[in-house]
Amino acid sequence: MAQEDTFKKIVSHCKEYGFVFPSSDIYDGLAAVYDYGQNGVELKNNIKQYWWQSMVLLHNNIVGIDSSIFMHPTIWKASGHVDAFNDPLIDNRDSKKRYRADVLIEDQLGKYEEKMDKEIAKAAKKFGDSFDAAQFRATNPRVLEYQRKYNELHTRFANAMEASNFEELKQIILDEGIVDPISGTKNWTDVRQFNLMFSTEMGASADSSSKIYLRPETAQGIFVNFLNVQKTGRMKLPFGIAQIGKAFRNEIVARQFVFRMREFEQMEMQFFCQPGTEMEWFNYWKQYRLAWHQALGMGNDNYRYHDHEKLAHYANAATDIEFHMPFGFKEVEGIHSRTNFDLSQHEKFSGRQIKYFDPERNENYTPYVVETSIGVDRMFLSIMCHSYTEEQLENGSSRVVLRLPEPLAPTKCAVLPLVNKDGLPEKAQEIVDDLKFHFNTHYGDPKDSIGKRYRRQDAVGTPFCVTVDHDTPKDHKVTLRYRDTMKQERVDIDALRGIMEERVSISSLLKKLNVKE
Ligand code: ATP
Repeated sequence: MAQEDTFKKIVSHCKEYGFVFPSSDIYDGLAAVYDYGQNGVELKNNIKQYWWQSMVLLHNNIVGIDSSIFMHPTIWKASGHVDAFNDPLIDNRDSKKRYRADVLIEDQLGKYEEKMDKEIAKAAKKFGDSFDAAQFRATNPRVLEYQRKYNELHTRFANAMEASNFEELKQIILDEGIVDPISGTKNWTDVRQFNLMFSTEMGASADSSSKIYLRPETAQGIFVNFLNVQKTGRMKLPFGIAQIGKAFRNEIVARQFVFRMREFEQMEMQFFCQPGTEMEWFNYWKQYRLAWHQALGMGNDNYRYHDHEKLAHYANAATDIEFHMPFGFKEVEGIHSRTNFDLSQHEKFSGRQIKYFDPERNENYTPYVVETSIGVDRMFLSIMCHSYTEEQLENGSSRVVLRLPEPLAPTKCAVLPLVNKDGLPEKAQEIVDDLKFHFNTHYGDPKDSIGKRYRRQDAVGTPFCVTVDHDTPKDHKVTLRYRDTMKQERVDIDALRGIMEERVSISSLLKKLNVKE
């Protein structure tokens, strides 16, 4: 199945099974804004819990905060967002659609990569076991030609972005023959800057001094609380402040479902350290964050680092963690070494001293910062894309199963009475009433056949089903069915909790992270 079709199916599965709905659905939706449904919110909460606990519980020197969305407007002047939080925008005159010029060019780079991968895959199939991919890549004339084109475009693009040279960005689009995917034409306007912050007015007066912004990232709420937390928590460097919250960006092109939204949620952590130690911490966080992703068991090959060559003027290192989505490898998280830029800027703009007194060195200085920043919604999407599976079964039928990492599944266990009589519903309810204190357990009404009810649980990713049948009241046993293997076994009711609890707990993931302090 083409990747595009798979993605479409995932989007409609999300709606059909109560994971994600378009916002304002009965009014035909609002572009790039989505609501999470009854299953989506559980999965999202589990992602957040996993992140929070891995940061705040596992690290003695990390604490959390919850800062407000509205902040003093000068904060965004200090952070550089008012002047520089822009994307290069380009319109196609025929389709009247708007695009990000940099994304059009990145997609073109992705096409060269795809072409190289295709040649390699074709050759691998032809030559079988004896195939040496590295050698083929280094010598095959067609691959080398694609690589040359890729490198040339990449350098030209990086230089244009670095110099904010919009004419050159447009020229690249024309030279590469990039066409609008809708109109199929090259009738492009010039490239212009577009600021991504939403603004609104605060209070009754509408003069310009009351203009405030909806935060485009949660990080600034952490920087402006640095002293509050450091002093009241008596924090010693190095230490981190973590936060989960909404962020807003007026994205030019909002495509790809919850990948690029105008209202989204971030999980960010700013790690404050001594100047000179930031590269050590940058490497620590780079590895730790990848391990966090990999602990979910979604295939280590589906992740890669993308080190930034073009760094923001204040950064001295930056990398993205990318996940293999159906539309290519895409950023889900950024790890940035931001030097002392933000704290120094806030010191300058607020007129307050924002320094750390180091008792060991007996001096004041501005700490350096390493940040980890991940989008909850992109993480959600990567999990949905990886988990959605269509299976052909041996008996000729098929099923759709969401192979969600068990600790993140919205419902961990569904208890299903075989029929709606003979005391079976009561027995099933008893089991739910016991298990619900330990993990999310759902009672499954016996309206449909047991087979249908299993399929429904498969489709929402429930790892375990427990069936109560006519023997249960006699032998105190139930049938336990496993989502992924569909294996069924008869187990004692008292054994249920023990079998499931460890597998579905967030702590089973945390234990894989092996943090030593
Ligand atoms: P992109 O280049 O894709 O626009 P970015 O580099 O601007 O992303 P950051 O500013 O580093 O993203 O934000 C950190 C994280 O927040 C991203 O890795 C992503 O997971 C998430 N994020 C950013 N913008 C959006 C958005 N519009 N919708 C959903 N998640 C987002």
